[in-house]
Amino acid sequence: MSGLGKGIVTSSILKILDVRGVKAIPMKFDGYLNVDCGTMNPFRHGEVFVLEDGSEVDMDFGTYERFLGKNLDGESSLTGGKIFKKIIEDEREGKFLGEDVQFIPHVTNYIKDYLKSLYKKKNADVVLIEVGGTVGDIENTYFIEALRQLSLEEDVLFIQLTYLPKLGGILKTKPTQHANRLIQSFGIKPNIIILRMPSLSYSSSPSLKISKEVIKKISLFCSVKEENIFLDPDLDFTYELPLVLEEQGINKCLEEFLGKLSPPNWESWKKRVESLKNPSKELNIALVGKYTKVKDAYISIEEALIHASAELGVRVRTKMLESSAFENHEALKKLEVFDGIIIPGGFGKRGIEGKINVIEYCRENKKPILGLCLGMQLMVIEYFRNVLGIKQANSLEFEETEWDVITLLPEQRLISKKGGTMRLGGYEMEIKEGTELFNAYKKRVVIERHRHRYEVNPKFSHMIKGELIVSATYNKRIVEAVEYKEGFGIGTQAHPELSSKFEKPSPLFLWFLRKSMLKKDKAN
Ligand code: GLN
Repeated sequence: MSGLGKGIVTSSILKILDVRGVKAIPMKFDGYLNVDCGTMNPFRHGEVFVLEDGSEVDMDFGTYERFLGKNLDGESSLTGGKIFKKIIEDEREGKFLGEDVQFIPHVTNYIKDYLKSLYKKKNADVVLIEVGGTVGDIENTYFIEALRQLSLEEDVLFIQLTYLPKLGGILKTKPTQHANRLIQSFGIKPNIIILRMPSLSYSSSPSLKISKEVIKKISLFCSVKEENIFLDPDLDFTYELPLVLEEQGINKCLEEFLGKLSPPNWESWKKRVESLKNPSKELNIALVGKYTKVKDAYISIEEALIHASAELGVRVRTKMLESSAFENHEALKKLEVFDGIIIPGGFGKRGIEGKINVIEYCRENKKPILGLCLGMQLMVIEYFRNVLGIKQANSLEFEETEWDVITLLPEQRLISKKGGTMRLGGYEMEIKEGTELFNAYKKRVVIERHRHRYEVNPKFSHMIKGELIVSATYNKRIVEAVEYKEGFGIGTQAHPELSSKFEKPSPLFLWFLRKSMLKKDKAN
């Protein structure tokens, strides 16, 4: 079922293979009929993740990239929408003349051919396929059937991830038994079972002892050897999972299937996990947004903060604050306890004025601030309104005004279709030397990912040259970043949180935490 952490388990196995020099690439199957995630609301589906090639994908891709430390591309995502769109187009073109087009073999062949050609094209040793949804859902039956067929043609290892609940103090194996029986009825026999156990905490019980009887029972009913059953306990940090699975010997299981692999090198990974668990300092960071009630809506920002905190040896406590609360100026006092503030990306008018008040508070109190995409756009609006005194300044996204200091990108004016049409993916930011941004990146040109329709209006950008300045542009036109001259705040049109990796934190998040630490030290 959803929420079990399939993405984290998949990423952990990818990493376990990667540290042994195996070229393992992920592949995600999603049964929904959207072509991609771009048109989904974060309330329904968490964050939309954007890859460097501009693909809008499921947030599991964020987990894969953060664990693997590599950039992936949209070819690793196959959705029901993509498959059916292609098959129906082919049918209309007459590619199946004379045939009736069916789930088997047309849809299943499409999936198998796609996998085989991806495997070849990427020159991969292993493709690790994550099937979205739950076994038994209508949405993913054709993916599961394709994988059953594939196992007759290629070497396929099946891993079942199940939930092991605790009721009245007793671990219950029934859901696992029934799920296993269901998947066996589809002709698939799992080789490995991973038991997700929220009731078992790794930090309070690192020896991971559960009753031998439980494992015996699962082994007997599911016909999987005891040594191929692994525990997935609750962890303080998800980055511990590859180590915890390896401690239990999952690598031996994988080697049985793949042959002997080279010895792993976990040095840097372990150092970072240790640093997360034993920080020397603590920082309080507030994220002021409008999807704060949705788990995972800001997951990449939370993870980017964890990556930077592991490098700097600090614990970051991130609090989500609903922006509309700050429409009332009185509420701004609540911000005093925070060492730094993040204004994330977003769409639509709701909560905007609250965020602008928070930005004004940060500017006046020189509180470290990081504005991401919409966050940067609002820093510009706040500057025009409160520093330059142009009260009508706004974004065309929220209001028709002659002071549309944030306006539609020219290439967006002719676009009416919503799917995949924003300015998406990696674009260069040309950074001005001598700025805070340059201090952060130590480079003239960097590539960061984007997802927006609006930009700083080039008609007005020359006016950003006082307390706020422009620190990066694209093609000499699009404002890619602004910052306060005094150096306590940066806003960027990009989403640097999307490219941050556990072993390679985003330079901008490192900069932000360093600033927040400095401010905290000064205050003490
Ligand atoms: N809504 C704004 C735009 O489309 C900002 C987008 C974002 O924050 N990702 O430009």
